[in-house]
Parts: sequence; C-alpha cells; structure tokens
Amino acid sequence: MEGKIKNLLVATESPFSEEANAELLKIAKEGGLEVKILKGHDMSKLNEDQELSQKLAEANALVVRGDKVTPAVVDAAPNLKLVIRGGSGYNNVDSDYCTKRDIILEPTPGQNSNGVSELAINMMLTLYRSIHVLDVSTKAGKFEKTKYRGRELKGKKLSLHGFGYVGQLVAEKAKSFGMKVYAYDPFVSPALAKDKRVTLVSTAEELYKDSDIVSLHIPLNKDTKGIVNKRLLSLMAKDGVLINTARAGIVNEDDLEAIMNERPEFKYGADDHTGGDVAGEKRFAKFDERALLTPHIGAGSEEANFNCATAAARQAVAFNKGDISTAVNKDVVPPWMSEYADLAEILGKVNSYLVEGQPKEVRVICYGDLEQYHNALAGNVLKGMFRRDELNPTEALALSKQNGIRLDLRKPDNTKKHGDSITIDYSATNTSSLRGTVAEGSIKLSRIEEFKDVDFRVTNNMVVMFQYKEGEGIADRIGNFFTEADYNKKSGTYNPSPSGENAIYVFNVQKKGGGQSYEEVKAITEDVKRSVPEVYKAIAVDLTK
Ligand code: NAD
Repeated sequence: MEGKIKNLLVATESPFSEEANAELLKIAKEGGLEVKILKGHDMSKLNEDQELSQKLAEANALVVRGDKVTPAVVDAAPNLKLVIRGGSGYNNVDSDYCTKRDIILEPTPGQNSNGVSELAINMMLTLYRSIHVLDVSTKAGKFEKTKYRGRELKGKKLSLHGFGYVGQLVAEKAKSFGMKVYAYDPFVSPALAKDKRVTLVSTAEELYKDSDIVSLHIPLNKDTKGIVNKRLLSLMAKDGVLINTARAGIVNEDDLEAIMNERPEFKYGADDHTGGDVAGEKRFAKFDERALLTPHIGAGSEEANFNCATAAARQAVAFNKGDISTAVNKDVVPPWMSEYADLAEILGKVNSYLVEGQPKEVRVICYGDLEQYHNALAGNVLKGMFRRDELNPTEALALSKQNGIRLDLRKPDNTKKHGDSITIDYSATNTSSLRGTVAEGSIKLSRIEEFKDVDFRVTNNMVVMFQYKEGEGIADRIGNFFTEADYNKKSGTYNPSPSGENAIYVFNVQKKGGGQSYEEVKAITEDVKRSVPEVYKAIAVDLTK
C-alpha cells in the first residue's frame, strides 16, 4: 500500500451524534491522525462550498455516511487514499472511480446489524400482541383488554430467509424467546448453522412451509428481486407474519397483497417501502392494523450511529498499519483485464451448477500473465460461485473464508503452454473442473470436466449443458426440445470424451422474439433429463446481465 494517511476529514450532511464524533476524534487522534469534522455540508454543492473544497484538497482519508461521493468529489481530493462509508452498503460511493484513482474504499460492515435485528424482533412482538393498535386505542380512552387475542413467540416456527450478519443476530435473540429457528441460505455452511443452533434447510419451500413467522434478511439483487412470492407465502401458516427489515424489492408485492386479501389473519411488518425513503402513501397502509410500517429506521439507533463512527476511526487508524481487511475494492484486476474478471466469474458460476452442494475446497490456477492477479481473479471465481452479482471480489473472498471454504491458489505450470487462461476445480459431494480463456474478445470454455477439447463461446445469455452416454442422434433429440419451445440455439459445441464413451453438448439459448425466462429454460432442461435416458447430467445457467 502506497503511503500513510495523516489528515482525516469527516464530511457528512447528516452528522454522527456528538457522542459518536467525540469518540471518533479520540480514537483517530490517539492513532496519530489529524481530524476535521464538517457537519451539514452537501457534497453535491461542492462548487459553491469553499470550506468543503479546501478540506477535501487536504484530506488523505474521507469519512461519509449516505453522502454521494462522485468522481467530482474524488477529483477535488488529490491526496485521498481512503474513503470510509459509515454503514454497511456503499452504493453512494463511486467504487470504480475510487479504484481507478487507487483509493481504498471501506464500509463499516456489521456495525448496524444489531439495530436491524432488534427491529425485526420488535416487529414480531408488536404484531403478535397488537401493541401498535392497543397503544392508540388506550390513549383514545378505550379499554380493549380482550378484543385482541395476543400470541407468544415461544414455541413458534421462525424462518430466517438469509443468514448473514442480521439473520444470525435475529436467530440469537429468537432462541432466547424459545422459538424454533430455521434458516435458508445456500451460501452458509452447515457448521455455522450448527454453531448458531439453527436448523439449516436446503430449499426456500422447506423454510416457508408451516412457518409462523418469516423474517427476511437477504440482499436485493437481480436474483432476489420479487423472490418472496405467492408460491412461498402460501406455504406459511394461515395466520402467518412476514417481517421485512431488508428491502421492499425482494417481495412480490402483488402476491403479498393477494395473500393478505385471501387470509384475514396474515400480517406484514416492513421497514423499507417501494419508492424509497420518501414521504407519501404506502401500499400496505390499507391493511391498517395488520400492517406495521416504519420509515427505514432499522439502522437508525443511537448505538448503530456510534458504532459506525467509531469503527470508521478504528479502520482509518488500522489503514496506517497496513490493515485494509474491510476494503471492498482491493482485489480488482486493472480495467484492461476486465474480460478475464468476467471469465473468472463465469467459470465460477457455471462450475457451481456442476457440483452438488457448497464446495468445501476451491482451486484456482491462473496461467500466463494472469498469475499476478491470482487473488483478484479467485475473488471473481467465488463471486460467480456464490451467484451474487452484488458482491465484489474482496467480499466474495471474505464470505468464502467465513464459510470455511478452503481456497487453493495453486502455482501454474506454465510449461503446459495454456496461455492466458484459468482452470478451476471445486470439491463438494462430487468434484468438477473447468478451464476457460478469452480469445478475440470472446469468453471461451475450453475444458468442461472430462471433456478436454471444448471450444464453446459464451455469450451473455442462457447456457445449457448436457452430458450423456454417446449414441446415435442424441444431440439432435436434445436440441429439438428447445426448438419446439421456440428457442434459438446459438454457438453450440459438441465434444466426445477421450474414451469416446460419453459426449457433451453445450449451447447458448435465446427465445425467438425475446421474453425468455430462466425458469422456462431450466424446466426444458429438466424435461430433457427426464425424457432422454442417456443424459446423465443437465444444467441450465443464467448468464444474462
Ligand atoms: P449479509 O450480507 O451479512 O447477509 C445476507 C445473507 O443473505 C448472506 O448470508 C447471503 O448468503 C444470503 N443470501 C443472498 N442471496 C440469498 C438467496 N437468494 N437466498 C437465501 N439467502 C441469500 O447482510 P446483512 O447485514 O445481514 O443485511 C441483510 C439485509 O438487510 C441487507 O441486504 C439490507 O438490504 C438490509 N439492511 C436493512 C437495514 C435497515 O435499515 N432496515 C440496515 C442494514 C441492512
């Protein structure tokens, strides 16, 4: 890491509390930093704000909260080496631009999780005993002692959809209430679940089935948008309660509304709302006492504010000791190599469909010039393996460590003359291996498990792959399933195994006239496997961006 930081600027439009700022100052000063705290300055008015411009020009490190850190802000700070976002997300900071300018970006992960977990428990208790309703009615002079039959959390099935920082804290608290706690999180190891004393289930259906309460703790991304749908919600108890302290977008709100209309006892607690953090009508308000709505206060506790500020100060001091373990942009390949980062991610993703269960060991070998970016490329492989677009390579590396996955960054044997290519191996219940490269700007898979001479060009599309016992006309039979469902097959390849006993047929598919869905492609793929007895492995991978 180049150089140390001296001047720390805290510039937030909505400042940390006095107490939090005092502690931040103490930690930073003890760590040898000079600190300037600017309150109430709006980054978007940088041009008119002389004090902000001047302090940015001097700063080596910048601490912000939700403030937007655009390229203009970064350019106003030519000596900047570190940006710390006090909070867990960081999409208010232009991460790519920081990387380009060689500036480390660090959020303060986990610092507000307790606040969110307490809100989730609070919502469960409130909805179970109708506290929000009874408070209003008692203040209005009524005495509705018996009108609402309250319920207890003890003995109820609580299902946690997502088992990261917040989910784990909710589990800990719910256990002390005597709840039966279940979790579904395909990226969490059984060992972690055992340690936290929760029952880890392997499908979302199993999680929702007969749940008294479902609490949502997954991120919002391409894969999770609208994932909480009618199919899952209808598996819950008739008088179920859905708690959403994550993001509104993960719930299919049409489906939830339908369930609440069908089931007069069903209740919903939500901290985030479609349309964002703005005043205005809220869709579920019409359900009155069956809906408990708060204005995104999960991370808004005094303690979370204090924790984020003090963690920012500790992280700034740690930076000067070479500790950048919370950085989200350190494991990145240079922009001119971004195709190889995409290759690594695609290999990581495709291989995750070829193994059963979560890999215990991941081996990554980077050949040729790629070796110097081994760590960053391994991070991209893991990002693909976790199938989580929103993760950056650094976070993916951290998540794999947290899950006890052994990462083997093996030295390449460049005498094999593989050129600039990547080989990855996963060991799970079975093992699976892939190799790929970039040729003439296209990502290519060159080895898939036992099939060594593949030449498959991957497009940003749906990819289907079939392995089968070799026989007359089987590839045609497979292809017909897609043709009949109105899919075009693009840049496909067929390869026999070295023994000639097996073969692989892999191709990109695209619905004629558009409108394809991964669910449909997956269903056709499963249909092929059921209908063509020679096919022993069939996968469908969504690589659309
Ligand atoms: P985290 O990243 O620690 O945990 C998220 C977990 O979800 C991970 O373990 C991941 O493996 C899992 N996951 C991802 N996709 C999944 C899927 N499809 N199915 C099942 N599990 C999946 O995040 P966290 O700190 O626990 O926060 C959870 C969410 O809470 C955040 O994404 C954010 O949206 C929300 N949040 C809300 C507030 C608030 O003020 N209400 C504050 C902070 C965070």
